[in-house]
Amino acid sequence: MTKAIVDLHAHLTDAIHQGTWFNGKPHTPVERCESLARQLLKKSFSTADSTLVGIIDFDDHRAERTFEALKRNSDDSKQDGNLLSVYDENKAAHYLKGQEIPTNKGHLLVLGAKSDVTSRTLRDAINEAKDLGGIVIADHPLFNVGPLQQAALRLIKHPSQLSVTARELYEFKDSFDAMEIMNGNLSKRYTRKQDLLSFDYDIPGIATSDSHTVDGVFSVNMEMANLDFSDEESLKDSLKREFRRYPRKINGSYNGMTERLRHTAASFYENLLFSTGLVKKF
Ligand SMILES: [Zn+2]
Repeated sequence: MTKAIVDLHAHLTDAIHQGTWFNGKPHTPVERCESLARQLLKKSFSTADSTLVGIIDFDDHRAERTFEALKRNSDDSKQDGNLLSVYDENKAAHYLKGQEIPTNKGHLLVLGAKSDVTSRTLRDAINEAKDLGGIVIADHPLFNVGPLQQAALRLIKHPSQLSVTARELYEFKDSFDAMEIMNGNLSKRYTRKQDLLSFDYDIPGIATSDSHTVDGVFSVNMEMANLDFSDEESLKDSLKREFRRYPRKINGSYNGMTERLRHTAASFYENLLFSTGLVKKF
């Protein structure tokens, strides 16, 4: 089996709303999705012969919309549940739908659940995700913000804890299929502690870009061999197995301070507009 370049955590903000002053001139949502799909295919096929991207929803359906646009823009594609594979001659670009859930104890990343996870407490969300066949990942663990940012989060009706702490990692260590030890939107200082906990608690460590733009997809990625893309279940099984195989080659770099600030400001601004009803999701 060929080696795949894997980035399991990307958001593609363009698929959910019309343009704002953060991301360019307004277009109709459909136009945005079409151009997003074309850019994403180009990015995937130019990166490697075999690639995998996790397209992650928040409380929206950007993955579904992206999948539809990807299918419209390719001649050869195959979908099995949450897995969409697009082929171009001898190359294959795979996309796996996922969800990032804001629980009471911080975000939880779930890949390939049969339907949306609706629980918003960490324990229930983990159990529900498992029942729905999802891969459960602690994303950007240990990253939390100070009182001022917490107040801002409450303003946009978001739980004030952004990430699970060491305590929750330990409590649910047997349930997590993996934890992020590198996330493109965090600074390097978290990595060392995450690495140690991944080792101590025996939770496989993975690296993702957490990108919100096509440009940022694969900016952090893993090289993984032995993934089985024949259908969704085989892929999920092989991912869980390969998470435990070390050493793993991780490529990429953290976003610079400007990009991180832009990401925070854009996420906050978007949520503020949505929560006040000034901008409608489509
Ligand atoms: Zn994310």
